[in-house]
Amino acid sequence: MARIVMKFGGTSVADLNRIHNVARHVKREVDAGHEVAVVVSAMSGKTNELVGWVENMPKVAGSNAPFYDAREYDAVVASGEQVTSGLLAIALQSMGINARSWQGWQLPIRTDNAHGAARILDIDGTDITRRMGEGQVAVVAGFQGLGPDNRLATLGRGGSDTSAVAIAAAVKADRCDIYTDVAGVYTTDPRIEPKARRLKKIAFEEMLEMASLGAKVLQVRSVELAMVHKVRTFVRSSFEDPDAPGMGDLMNPPGTLICDEDEIVEQEVVTGIAYAKDEAQISLRRLADRPGVSAAIFGPLAEAHINVDMIVQNISEDGSKTDMTFTVPSGDVDKALRVLGDNKEKIGYDVIQSESGLVKVSVIGIGMRSHAGVAASAFRALADKGINIKAITTSEIKISILIDGPYAELAVRTLHSTYGLDKS
Ligand code: ADP
Ligand code: ASP
Ligand code: MG
Repeated sequence: MARIVMKFGGTSVADLNRIHNVARHVKREVDAGHEVAVVVSAMSGKTNELVGWVENMPKVAGSNAPFYDAREYDAVVASGEQVTSGLLAIALQSMGINARSWQGWQLPIRTDNAHGAARILDIDGTDITRRMGEGQVAVVAGFQGLGPDNRLATLGRGGSDTSAVAIAAAVKADRCDIYTDVAGVYTTDPRIEPKARRLKKIAFEEMLEMASLGAKVLQVRSVELAMVHKVRTFVRSSFEDPDAPGMGDLMNPPGTLICDEDEIVEQEVVTGIAYAKDEAQISLRRLADRPGVSAAIFGPLAEAHINVDMIVQNISEDGSKTDMTFTVPSGDVDKALRVLGDNKEKIGYDVIQSESGLVKVSVIGIGMRSHAGVAASAFRALADKGINIKAITTSEIKISILIDGPYAELAVRTLHSTYGLDKS
């Protein structure tokens, strides 16, 4: 007997038939004698609809700034998961399974006060653990918890993954299965490159990079929690027949295991390619080249909660003036330009230029630590396709390249084949 947390994403609970199908997956594990807790997302498209309602509330005449209260945003957008948790509990009960839904505040899942992007601080797993021991399945609404102000707090988009891993850690589960609409983690998004291969295993560090660099198959924070708490996490499909052979395999279910690096015997140099759309580039021209100039730029941007990513500073020719280029999410460009405009005197630049609609493509692999020439082959391959590189950043295990938006798919496919990742 094992203790298993099963998480089902939006497409897996998209309608009543799919919820019934999810209940069959849960029943398989219950019938095998396991203790089970389930985490659900909202029906696919629901959270977007709810966010749209909040953002599109008609504004007071004369005001053009988008205004909404983050606590009320959370009250609205957390409702999608409340619906699916109740519906799944009903579906399970109709199959004769003892099941009960739980909202984040009922457990409670305690979070910090960052409404809209809250972090889980603590989960009281006692009640669920006791009930699981008595044969009850807890169906927990993902994506939500209870803030210190005693109000609902949501965990940022994709946050149900994090709910699931955090609950798995809290109840000391033997396994956390993240069920989605693809069969695991692939060498790149299988919807962009049909030749992408499913990985049997991927190291925590690589999965962290993949997720941070745009592969939305797992929320970044869920991977961090799985790594810190050593949660045995699998990504697998809810679209396969719940009763097909091997689906209930305890140690090796079909899917991808996220694990420690040393569990992977055959480590490739490059493991995967990720991409992030909607990046924007901002350049400050003819800045004074003196100590404190970077702090003068990035301090006010940080205070405005603008997430700056790639930063490139030119070496000045004569030691007096330089240029600084960096990227921010496209949605933050206007705000960033406003902040930089307000601080023009203090920073001391000549002009600002900006460009939106860019894409960051990244090559990821732990094997890069010990192999030279990986970056050079990416640059050569992109050049051969006529793709211009706007900025580059590297770390020990990744190379990120900023390019024009329309080239995203071509660049992903080109790099995928350059590193021999295409399935044969
Ligand atoms: P869910 O609703 O189940 O949480 P998501 O849409 O958040 O599902 O994540 C699954 C999607 O992630 C897949 O449909 C796929 O298009 C995308 N994806 C991006 N990169 C990868 C990758 N490397 N491997 C698998 N899926 C990926
Ligand atoms: N429903 C939320 C979202 O769409 C959380 C999740 O699906 O993980 O972001
Ligand atoms: Mg998701």
